[in-house]
Amino acid sequence: MLVLAAMLPILALTLYNGFRERSAAEAAERDELRLAAELTAKRPEQLLLHARQLLQTIAANSDELLRDTGACRAYFERMALETDGVFRSIGVILPDGSLHCNSALKIVDAATINVGDRAYFRQALESGQFVVGEFQIGRTSGQSGINFGLPVFDAERRVRAVLFAGLNLPKFIEQGESRRDDPARIAEGLVTAIYDRNDVLLARYPASEKYVIGKKGPNPFLLEILARHQSGVFTAADTFGVQRLYAVEHVGLNPDGTPPIRVVVSKPVDLVQAAANRALLHTVAGIVIVTLLVLIAAWYASEVFVLRRVRLLLEVASRIRSGDFGARAGFGEGREELTCLGVALDAMATELQARDRQLQQVIQQLNEQAITDQLTGLPNRRYLWDRLEAELMRMRRRGAPLSVILFDVDFFKQFNDRWGHEAGDIVLKNIAYAIRKVVRGSDIVARHGGEEFVIVLPEAGEDIALARAEELRREISALRLTFGGEDLGTITVSVGVVCSRNPGDTAEQLVRAADHAMYEAKQAGRDRVVLRSVADPA
Ligand code: GH3
Ligand code: MG
Ligand code: MG
Repeated sequence: MLVLAAMLPILALTLYNGFRERSAAEAAERDELRLAAELTAKRPEQLLLHARQLLQTIAANSDELLRDTGACRAYFERMALETDGVFRSIGVILPDGSLHCNSALKIVDAATINVGDRAYFRQALESGQFVVGEFQIGRTSGQSGINFGLPVFDAERRVRAVLFAGLNLPKFIEQGESRRDDPARIAEGLVTAIYDRNDVLLARYPASEKYVIGKKGPNPFLLEILARHQSGVFTAADTFGVQRLYAVEHVGLNPDGTPPIRVVVSKPVDLVQAAANRALLHTVAGIVIVTLLVLIAAWYASEVFVLRRVRLLLEVASRIRSGDFGARAGFGEGREELTCLGVALDAMATELQARDRQLQQVIQQLNEQAITDQLTGLPNRRYLWDRLEAELMRMRRRGAPLSVILFDVDFFKQFNDRWGHEAGDIVLKNIAYAIRKVVRGSDIVARHGGEEFVIVLPEAGEDIALARAEELRREISALRLTFGGEDLGTITVSVGVVCSRNPGDTAEQLVRAADHAMYEAKQAGRDRVVLRSVADPA
């Protein structure tokens, strides 16, 4: 997104510059086209000047020409030669329109010709000025062209005659072609056309079947421009539907205020814009390609240097959250932010792992402490009751007997009083040691409280339980303990034994019965074993 945001202004600026360059190129092209029209107009302008000068020269000799028709004809024939075929016919017309003499016809034939209806003749007669005519087919020459007319006056300023010169149009066109039909201009799509005052086509370069010499131009837009006698540069579609740039230039001025000849130079608009468009397209394509490359590079770089590592960090974080403190990013050394983040995360995981380990140890210790008696290291009452319930259920399922031995140290209060509490603790520890010697691995031993201990014997019947109790009593009474160098004497215990074969017996009933048996042993004189059945009332 950042790459795109950075590239957009560049693209906008380039497009803006491109359009500016295009319009500058278009403006330059318009100027060039206008210049081309002006240059093209030079030849008809010179022709007009030439014709006027020619007719003025003739006017100077008009007296003689009007007097002697023979001399007149000879004069014009000579003049036609001198003008090198530019004019197809030069001559004198009398005010009534009859041909006095000319360069093309014999005098006799000339007399039969009347041009009183020709526009240039009438205009010259009426205006008394030099006139440029319209496209016409010459009556004497049979050739196409336009005529120029100049009236000559007598002393009272009455028109005595109208001098005329008819342009040899095919020659005019031919002279123009050598210059205009060169391949470079055609390639540029440049078209030059010359129209008369009635929008009739006089010349076109290059020639086209659609545009016929002597016929009115077919492009209505152009005709409208020409009708308005407008000069300048315009854009419009041509008869082929192609948008073109037109430069229109007027040549000369007739007495009625209209331009008799118009030059039109045109060129297709897309050719004008083509070069600028191409340059713009190249630049835009370049920017798009560079943008794409930068995007790919940015994506690749962010994928390799950022996204992959961010994903790894997320994965590690989620593993840590789910309790896997062994997860590590493993980014290694570096000052770059993500590396620092990875290192910090790894350090955090390491710390968490250490603390977790400590916590687990503490929990384990706490658990052990909760079920272990600190003094003797034997399981405590809580453990006993949990295990006793479970063992009872197991025995009931198997229909096996279960026995409980409960014993209490005799006169222990006195012992404490005499030897001190510390010595009492030594006794309790040694009793625990003696119990461990007697019981099997499957038996459950616990310090039931104070100087009272319980042993559960799964699958043991009365005989086994009694034998074990007796063995225990003897083992304890055989202890020879000293404290501070002094003999602590004989320690005796009173032992109660119960055996359960009844599936209905509860743990509580069993322990209570064993306690009663132990109490009976105390009653009977201590230092002995008493067996009781669970069902016996207290
Ligand atoms: P009996 O033969 O009737 O059982 O007499 P006894 O003195 O043993 O009975 P009693 O219940 O009156 O006294 C129990 C004594 O056990 C009281 C207490 O000082 C002692 N005792 C209980 N727990 C400990 C212990 O953890 N350490 C020591 N040193 N003495 C304990
Ligand atoms: Mg006691
Ligand atoms: Mg006691």
